[in-house]
Amino acid sequence: MAKMRRKKRRSSAAGEPSWLPQFPYGVVMGYNPSMHGELLDRFLDYASYDTMSDGARADEGVRPSAEGEERLLLHLKEELEALGIEAFYGEEKVLCARIRGSADAAPIGFMAHVDTADDVPGNGVRPVVHRDFVPGDIVLGDTVISLDGNPDLARYAGGTVITSSGDTLLGSDDKAGVAIMMEAARLLVQGDMPHGDVELYFTPDEETGHGVDRFPSTWGKAGIIYTVDGEEEGIVENECFNAASVYITIKGNAVHLGSARGVLRNAVTAAAYIISSLPASESPEATDGRYGYYAADNLHASIPDASFEVIIRDFDYDGLQRRIAAVESIAEAARHIYGADVSVRTAIRYRNMAEACASRPEAMSLLERAAQSIGMKLERRAIRGGTDGANLAALGIASPNIFTGGHNLHSVREWVAVEAMASSLSLVMAIIREAAV
Ligand SMILES: [Zn+2]
Repeated sequence: MAKMRRKKRRSSAAGEPSWLPQFPYGVVMGYNPSMHGELLDRFLDYASYDTMSDGARADEGVRPSAEGEERLLLHLKEELEALGIEAFYGEEKVLCARIRGSADAAPIGFMAHVDTADDVPGNGVRPVVHRDFVPGDIVLGDTVISLDGNPDLARYAGGTVITSSGDTLLGSDDKAGVAIMMEAARLLVQGDMPHGDVELYFTPDEETGHGVDRFPSTWGKAGIIYTVDGEEEGIVENECFNAASVYITIKGNAVHLGSARGVLRNAVTAAAYIISSLPASESPEATDGRYGYYAADNLHASIPDASFEVIIRDFDYDGLQRRIAAVESIAEAARHIYGADVSVRTAIRYRNMAEACASRPEAMSLLERAAQSIGMKLERRAIRGGTDGANLAALGIASPNIFTGGHNLHSVREWVAVEAMASSLSLVMAIIREAAV
């Protein structure tokens, strides 16, 4: 039955199907710059909101951690309601929307975050639009986005590239994702593409690691929620690190240093021993690809007291557990060697979303079928970090991450091409269409 419907629709799509977005992918889809204008306008509007999240406030449980995040979430709610879409913004502070479908298909979800990072100034963003882009170095005051360092710029010759003014980030991470999802919502409501129920989620505080701390899990029905929070065009990610923090606290014994022999227990020395025992060849500086790492951070040390954190990442959960055990055994050794009181506390930060993806293989197969249907080539990559999707995995929701087109995220050299955002939108629409086939 499903196959019959699919065939029928394909053959009627031989010309220019009105229910498909007119983007450069696929032989049946002509280029339509007018739709790029909508995407650009949306992105520029969202970029004007000051939504730099505040890690310290988020850690204290303030949600959203920046006032601008809530202003943008409420603005999006109004825009959705103006399109006649049912939107919900409850105590979880996640904006949810459901576009009711006609086709008999499983509900499918998409997610983007409204906050921006604080690695560089993230508020007061003044985007610069480079139309009819001629590939070359982009000079923004003291900031230069070099073609050498950004060979992907050449892909967008003649297109529209957006940068910041050079002294803030741009916020394509993840306002490009927000604009793509909002534009998809408009196309679904105003077009005639058959689809099932589509759920949209806009989260605050992803950059602080608290994006889905609270999630309206009883509101949503989708078992697959694609995050639209990736990077360069064509890349999808269905794997991320497993992450843990091991917190080590050391109590020494401070005495007069002139009469310390046999009595002093120096917490600084014990901390230094533990940190120097972490394998240097398994540090972030020394690893890439699929290798995990240990990294010491937040060290505070004096003779009576020392504390620090060991950040641990590993794609393999057993590997993560082995690393935690290794740190614990080094701490145990320090206890014996230095006679200090060493205590260890471990927190699992997030899990590799590949596990949830593996339990719902349709998440990746649908994504690939959708890309194929529009002639788009996708490349799979593993994220050396986490996303909101990593936390959704704990709820049994599969959340592969889709590209937005953003480059140099969290930096003053951030840039995105509208054409890449349009490709992402094409993929989102194709997923929704294929899910209903
Ligand atoms: Zn992001």
